[in-house]
Amino acid sequence: MSDKAIKTPIPAGALGSSAMDEREVEAVANLIKQEHERMFRYREDAGEKGMSQCDYLETALREKTGASYALFLASGTGALSCALSSYEIGPGDEVIVPAYTYIATAAAVIDVGAVPVIAEIDDSLGMDPADFERKITPHTKAVILVHMQGVPARVDAIRAIAKKHNLIMIEDACQAIGAKYKGKYVGMDSDAWAWSTNFFKVITSGEGGVFFTNNADAFQRGVYQSDSGMAMWKTELPITKETKPFARAGLRGSEVSAAILRVQLDKLDGILDHTRHLKKVLLSSLNTPKNYQLQYVDDPEGDCGFSITFIAKDQATAKKMSELLAEEGLNIGSVYNAGFPDRHIYSHWDPIINKVSATPAGYPWKDPSYKGNVEYSVDMCPNTLDILQRALRITLNIRMTETNVKEFADAINKVDAMI
Ligand SMILES: *Cc1c(COP(=O)(O)O)cnc(C)c1O
Repeated sequence: MSDKAIKTPIPAGALGSSAMDEREVEAVANLIKQEHERMFRYREDAGEKGMSQCDYLETALREKTGASYALFLASGTGALSCALSSYEIGPGDEVIVPAYTYIATAAAVIDVGAVPVIAEIDDSLGMDPADFERKITPHTKAVILVHMQGVPARVDAIRAIAKKHNLIMIEDACQAIGAKYKGKYVGMDSDAWAWSTNFFKVITSGEGGVFFTNNADAFQRGVYQSDSGMAMWKTELPITKETKPFARAGLRGSEVSAAILRVQLDKLDGILDHTRHLKKVLLSSLNTPKNYQLQYVDDPEGDCGFSITFIAKDQATAKKMSELLAEEGLNIGSVYNAGFPDRHIYSHWDPIINKVSATPAGYPWKDPSYKGNVEYSVDMCPNTLDILQRALRITLNIRMTETNVKEFADAINKVDAMI
């Protein structure tokens, strides 16, 4: 028998898509068989012949999360632009985003005409509250807090600063469906929040997103942002038309995706029970670390539990650990080097760092209503780059077992003792 710590094959797979089975197939087949003549979320006969898949899904989303309003959309990026529009954020405004997030968080800000400002992360791998406060200017209108890899970021600390400066707080929970903070689903105490249900996420509909808010006025504006024909559709959505309808984007969710996501939503708790259990087993199998510290998790109870990040004491140690772990059969480079160039790290967001605009007029940075002077550079957030180069991450999935995670812990313990 091999003396490597990893003896059992490591199953691969994204969470939601790995949980797919006949139930999703049936949901789509039934939709096509029964509804092929009206596979559209808004219906002339709404209320008479029953609700659309999107209507059913949104009802289930509200019931599950406790949110007052939910709108199913074509993407998570679209959900973020609805969240921003819902608070009238646009040209002239700055929005602070973390240096470690999918580029879409910053792109949604640009999409509504506002300017993204990039703040450092800390050992939570979420936004650093101190740097957030430093980045506030007279033009700042909002902050987007991102929960990467299902781990809740420092919600209370960020909220206290946002309140102090009268800023709108939006949470990007695209990677954190099902994550909680102090007992509530992440986002619930913020002005608006977003999920993505693209292929890589906790649950998936292939592509998709959800815009959530507890504010009735904001919801109306978010709905108008999502569909330029909104004022002309008959809908079950609580639209009072008090907000003057405006014509904007085309972000409607599809009935096929909604049918799939209804099934996936039913599976969410089962998926997270498994990943949370595996993470607990892994953590309890670790010896006291010498060369690393674990990622700081502000609310471990609310963590989705599918990622465990070891932050080495310095970059050389991270490199050494990574090499030794590979010899044990566990291939994990630093987060910085994973899938290089990683679209989740600001220094690779070339279109933003270089202020590349879709128009010769240089929108949104040269928009006449923008009076700020944000500057970007690849080395503007050195702490973020340092932390990500020291961060080694194990990602769990629903096909893994206790045996897998105990072997992961064996590998980490063995390597940590060797250095
Ligand atoms: C996936 C993701 C998005 C965007 O979602 P899409 O559905 O791909 O548009 C936004 N923010 C974060 C943090 C994400 O991981």
